[in-house]
Amino acid sequence: MTDFMKAVVKTEPRIGACYKDVHFPQLQPDWVIVKVKATSICGTDVHIYKWDEWSATRIGEHNLPQTLGHEVAGYVVEVGAHCKRIKVGDYISAETHIYDPADIPSLMGQFHVGDNMRILGVDCDGAFGEYFAIPESVCWVNDSSIPFEFATVQEPMGNAAYAVLGEDNDIAGKSMAFIGDGPIALFGIGIARACGAANIFAIGLSEYNLLIASKMGADHILYADGRDGVDRFSYIRDNTYGAGADIVLDMVGVPQAIQDGFKYLRKGGRFSAFGISGKPQFPIDYNNSIVFKGAQIYGISGRKIFDTWYRVRNLLAHNRIDIAPVITHMFELKDFQKGFDLLLAEPRECAKVVLFPEEDELKKALKRKQ
Ligand code: ZN
Repeated sequence: MTDFMKAVVKTEPRIGACYKDVHFPQLQPDWVIVKVKATSICGTDVHIYKWDEWSATRIGEHNLPQTLGHEVAGYVVEVGAHCKRIKVGDYISAETHIYDPADIPSLMGQFHVGDNMRILGVDCDGAFGEYFAIPESVCWVNDSSIPFEFATVQEPMGNAAYAVLGEDNDIAGKSMAFIGDGPIALFGIGIARACGAANIFAIGLSEYNLLIASKMGADHILYADGRDGVDRFSYIRDNTYGAGADIVLDMVGVPQAIQDGFKYLRKGGRFSAFGISGKPQFPIDYNNSIVFKGAQIYGISGRKIFDTWYRVRNLLAHNRIDIAPVITHMFELKDFQKGFDLLLAEPRECAKVVLFPEEDELKKALKRKQ
């Protein structure tokens, strides 16, 4: 194997990234090395690309250069001496939260919220390269029938599955309101539909993405800025027999949207809090939104490891969900810039962007999309 490979690297503490030669990843005894077939751009990568306050604090200039990316699908090409479960040739994706099994939440089976967890592409080099390294413990073996461009987005689909299904998986026949129209909300709508939710509201701002929401199975489309002239509160009540939505999912983190979200929620309903707020301290009507409402609030951090992976693999492998409408753009890895430009443009006219290190694989994926 060669000493160098191509990767998309954050080199400077300012907006941008470079496609350049980097050292081939180092194999550690309990890690594996994977040849990347497809990798996708996440909101986290956009934060790092922009080098906003969060990434400047979380990663820090002293850790640059660092390879971006964490959503991935590929084949294992090398395994460390201590690896037992994963073999060379396995088709894998990665749970990007590298959990510490000694954390108290991990010992309680809540691997997704341990204190000493590290994140691929944030706390170490990521997957936007020809190869990347990952601990065996977080490798997830894919179903061979799942194409690369779908296998790579199982990670955000896992976020969506957790937000939709919550802790009790009790959604069959229920109404759900999604606040937000980004890729995770769009995946979530498809998962909700596949898992039996019966009345789905999508509330967003992008016409382009709300059209995808309809394709994914939303029954009602509402504009968060009221441009459709519809009163969202009475509309949702009128379409839920006067009660409000059984389940509300916030996927944007905007204070007003969250305050509105509790108003969409019926008494005794469930609120999934997934959106990360740029302004995390804001007033909320504690009595009426939570206490008297009997609201069940779930904080959704990451994915349930590996419960959501297991369910998402089955949904994809057995064609219970078609996520093709959400994969709006595919490029070669070297053209990563096109993807970030699309994701930064306003108004947003793209959902999920998938990148391929090999031109051939991109061509095959574009053919499959036709
Ligand atoms: Zn992600």
